Amino acid sequence: MPSPTPVPPRDRADTPWRSEGAPPAPPPKRRMPGGWRGLVLAALVVFLLTNLVLSFFNEGDEPTVSYTEFSKQVANGNVEKIYSKGDAIQGELKNEQPLPDGKGDYTKFVTQRPAFADDQLWANLTAKGVTVTASPVVVQRSFLSNLLLSLAPMVLLVVLWLLIARRMGGAMGGAGPLGRKAPPKPVELEGGKRTTFDDVAGIDEVEEELSEVVDFLKNPQAYRRMGARMPGGVLLAGPPGTGKTLLARAVAGEAGVPFFSASASEFIEMIVGVGASRVRELFTEARKVAPAIIFIDEIDTIGRARGGGSGLGGHDEREQTLNQILTEMDGFSGSEGVVVLAATNRASVLDPALTRPGRFDRTVAVSPPDRAGREAILRIHTRDIPLDPGVDLAQVARTTPGMTGAELANLANEAALLAVKRGQPAVTGADLSDALEKVQLGAKRPLVMPEEERRRTAYHESGHALLGMLHPGADPVRKITIVPRGRALGVTLSTPDADRYAYTEEYLRGRIIGALGGMAAEHVVYNLITTGAENDLEQVTNLARGMVGRWGMSERVGRLTAIPADAEAPYGLTAAPATLDAVDHEMRRIVDECYENACRLLREHRQQLDALAEALLANETLEEDAAYAAAGITRPAK
Ligand code: ADP
Ligand code: MG
Ligand code: ZN
Repeated sequence: MPSPTPVPPRDRADTPWRSEGAPPAPPPKRRMPGGWRGLVLAALVVFLLTNLVLSFFNEGDEPTVSYTEFSKQVANGNVEKIYSKGDAIQGELKNEQPLPDGKGDYTKFVTQRPAFADDQLWANLTAKGVTVTASPVVVQRSFLSNLLLSLAPMVLLVVLWLLIARRMGGAMGGAGPLGRKAPPKPVELEGGKRTTFDDVAGIDEVEEELSEVVDFLKNPQAYRRMGARMPGGVLLAGPPGTGKTLLARAVAGEAGVPFFSASASEFIEMIVGVGASRVRELFTEARKVAPAIIFIDEIDTIGRARGGGSGLGGHDEREQTLNQILTEMDGFSGSEGVVVLAATNRASVLDPALTRPGRFDRTVAVSPPDRAGREAILRIHTRDIPLDPGVDLAQVARTTPGMTGAELANLANEAALLAVKRGQPAVTGADLSDALEKVQLGAKRPLVMPEEERRRTAYHESGHALLGMLHPGADPVRKITIVPRGRALGVTLSTPDADRYAYTEEYLRGRIIGALGGMAAEHVVYNLITTGAENDLEQVTNLARGMVGRWGMSERVGRLTAIPADAEAPYGLTAAPATLDAVDHEMRRIVDECYENACRLLREHRQQLDALAEALLANETLEEDAAYAAAGITRPAK
């Protein structure tokens, strides 16, 4: 989800970072005197010049006539003078003559005398009184045009060079003759509202850790006097949407220092070395206005452990960019007051070189908020939204376990959009729950389904739901629907009553059984298999792989990590082939057992399955209570 915080527009295409709170950008670099209009003007001048030069050429462009025609004119006494060099003859007539091919008239001409012509030309010419000279009749090119011509390529080159030098002015670090940079201006802060810790909630422990950084940035002298050294870098690690970017920006805002942010992937270009030079430039800019914060987002894209098989190509560039970052950080004396924050979704895949002391020597885990945190985040994001007095944000927080800050922000916004659409003066509880439905289940899709398929979908979803209800300890079923949403034909939503942090094997098996429930129901009722279970199977595979390969839940594989947590890491290198075989075998065993279990349960509870499916067909969507009632199951106590 793109951050709703407005990001200042970039002032130059070749700086991949954005900054805020930094001194105002130097007056826009004039790439061309007069900007684009100037460029067009220059192009016009070059064009005219070329034409001029060409017209000098064209002056020497007399029509070529045949030698026969020339002989005829000599015989008629119509030739005024000629100039000859070798067998080439150039000349002028006394009176204009029509061209033999009928394309106009001519007085000046050139022709070529064939070597075998023994026509006593000299005798004829003298007889007719033609002036014969050894210098061209028509001066082909003046001295000036010759000069222009020989200079033209150089002029063009110089113009091109100037253009390029201007464009690259910044990238060349001011080395270009025209790439002068404006001297850094004093830092102008308090322009516009900046993000602070007030905009962040639900991750108090992280705020705590970072407040030290804020303190350092606010008065570096105090730290310097103590001889204390600030961490060069802090790594924020956590799932997407938990507020890492927000936090980094808030740290800068709290400290009131300039904030430079860039995504690591933006440094990487096809050209090796560009990334490194951009990094150098970024750090230079930041040092100029220190104390400052540099934020590098998604650092795992360049900071993966080397040789970690991150695909082909771009390897050198990635490594060079990373090395440049490390070099810059090593160069910190600790008193400059530039703090580097970086964010990653996967701290486990990072190159250990990054987390060495003096570099990102602090890693702060950012996790999805708990119930109280969710409520606080909802409060922040409904600050500017008029809320109906009946809205209970605590209740919303209770029904959204697992949702991240970004998802909650999105939820608040969706609810506000709904309220506008419905022409209400304030956001009501109904708007929020409808928005939640949309966020959790996906947008409704207008799709007319054949009755037969609707029925099959009803059984599919009932299968999921019923098994979720039957399995002890499973997450309660919150909603079942056969209204197509997103890519799914139907959805069964189960969420836990409270936040869960660790899962038992029993619970995971229940999840697998529930996920297989749709397929099992179609199998039990129709004895067929459809494509509708693709997502279910993906989920099942991930759960089973985790259980066997990472969570030590298989006796045969044993208590070890057979499969890396990072899904993109090369699979085959982490364990012996025999172990991987065992993993495969055990995954199959677990899933097969669960599938049999699912089918057996559904056969045993066939009446409840039918009842639930009928209720779904009649109502399309069943809420928690209605669903449990239709299946005739008492909902487990909270
Ligand atoms: P990340 O960088 O971890 O992927 P972001 O910082 O980009 O997440 O979060 C996206 C948006 O979600 C933020 O701009 C903010 O509106 C909201 N958000 C995320 N976490 C929080 C939080 N802890 N408190 C308040 N808002 C949050
Ligand atoms: Mg982010
Ligand atoms: Zn399904």
